[in-house]
Amino acid sequence: MAIVTIPTPLRQYAAQQREVNIGGITIDEVLGGLTAQYPELRRHLYNENGSMRNFVNVYLNDEDVRYLKKGNTAVAEGDTISIIPAIAGGSAALPNPPLRSGRENNALLQGVKGQQASDMSLSHDEILRYSRHLLVPEVAMDGQKKLKAASVLLIGAGGLGSPAALYLAAAGVGRIGIVDFDVVDSTNLQRQIIHSSEAIGTSKLASAKARIEGLNPYVKVETYETMLSSENALELFKDYDIIADGTDNFPTRYLVNDACVLLGKPNVYGSIFRFEGQASVFYAKEGPCYRCLYPEPPPPGLVPSCAEGGVLGVLPGTIGLIQATEAIKLILGIGEPLIGRLMLYDALSMRFRELKLRKDPDCPICGEHPTITELIDYQAFCGITTADEGFTEVDISPLELKERLDRGEDLMLLDVREAHEWDIAHLEGATLIPVNDVTERAHELSTADDIVVYCKAGTRSARAVQQLQMLGFRKLHNLRGGINAWAAQVDPTMPSY
Ligand code: ZN
Repeated sequence: MAIVTIPTPLRQYAAQQREVNIGGITIDEVLGGLTAQYPELRRHLYNENGSMRNFVNVYLNDEDVRYLKKGNTAVAEGDTISIIPAIAGGSAALPNPPLRSGRENNALLQGVKGQQASDMSLSHDEILRYSRHLLVPEVAMDGQKKLKAASVLLIGAGGLGSPAALYLAAAGVGRIGIVDFDVVDSTNLQRQIIHSSEAIGTSKLASAKARIEGLNPYVKVETYETMLSSENALELFKDYDIIADGTDNFPTRYLVNDACVLLGKPNVYGSIFRFEGQASVFYAKEGPCYRCLYPEPPPPGLVPSCAEGGVLGVLPGTIGLIQATEAIKLILGIGEPLIGRLMLYDALSMRFRELKLRKDPDCPICGEHPTITELIDYQAFCGITTADEGFTEVDISPLELKERLDRGEDLMLLDVREAHEWDIAHLEGATLIPVNDVTERAHELSTADDIVVYCKAGTRSARAVQQLQMLGFRKLHNLRGGINAWAAQVDPTMPSY
């Protein structure tokens, strides 16, 4: 018997099991047994040709099976097989050379050592402020100057960026850049601790900058109120030593990765989903990159975002601080960086696990014969059409729906969210069928009805509309912006979430 761990996003296809015991003497047999038991899992693990999907990795204990004898690898009694899909809301063992440890790692960041750091000096006030660092031999005056000379660019001032920014600033990292274009809203405050209630409705950048400057006036904060894109990423990244990726979507993950590989910068990676997090340092000069781990993103909608799937508020704190810790270690050149290792954190069981990552010689950007030599269109790469293309004639606005209901039109309201979301708020008279059950339970619906499908924000309902279209339903409408838009535009007494 092997233990197969099922990741959170796929548990809905495996009767919500976290771990399943399955017999079998090879990985193929065990996974075959698993998908026989949970047939819905099959299409998430394998493509039409029966090959394992590129955005799902399988590990036998801590080894990626792609580098073992693949599916034929023998499984021993009690082995753990982990299924690790890419998560966004939120790298490989080194080719062979052992990880350098201790002070030898200084070479990791050429820009921070030598000239620049030695030019730095600390004022009496700074010496007092950083006293507890100066007392640590591995940091000391030399290390504190390196921190002051260093620069870290945070992608996103959200759940991961908040704790990372605060601790990097407190530690005395001399220059912190933040890229974000969002406004603070009240749903952010459950985890984005850099922002305060007073900041609701204001720019996240302004809020973050004010908080950091309040914490440590010796830090220079640079803000970039823009959406990171293929047009601006290289320009933004080039003046920073380290990039910390705290975004929540796959196009930006790949964009950050590729820009870091092209510029030779380390990408301190963190991602989160519900109770689980991942962290690594992708640094192509020394180890694998994100594409070595996941050559392709999952199709849109398969892995829910934190906005859709939720996240435990303290989780980004843990992962964001792992990112900050790794950034500081890289700057100081101490310890063993998380290069070539993927750290998995499960808050529910309070367990950290570590998987070995390898550099893929065929990686399209950091491999031996790279095919990607400049930044590409990441939206298209991730299969995402632009918002304009996404709007179809099946969309219905909240106000239009209200008018039609007021006129007494006979509309069937289909709620495709989860039961716990239904409990927060729902439209009167609606029927609940979670999006993953829609195909299976389509017989409960009638093609004769005019059906208005809604979810929280309009993404899952769009998927449900597509599924129903494939089953022959034609009179379908997707509530644009979901129930949150309804609450905002039609019914102010309804809570948003
Ligand atoms: Zn790579």
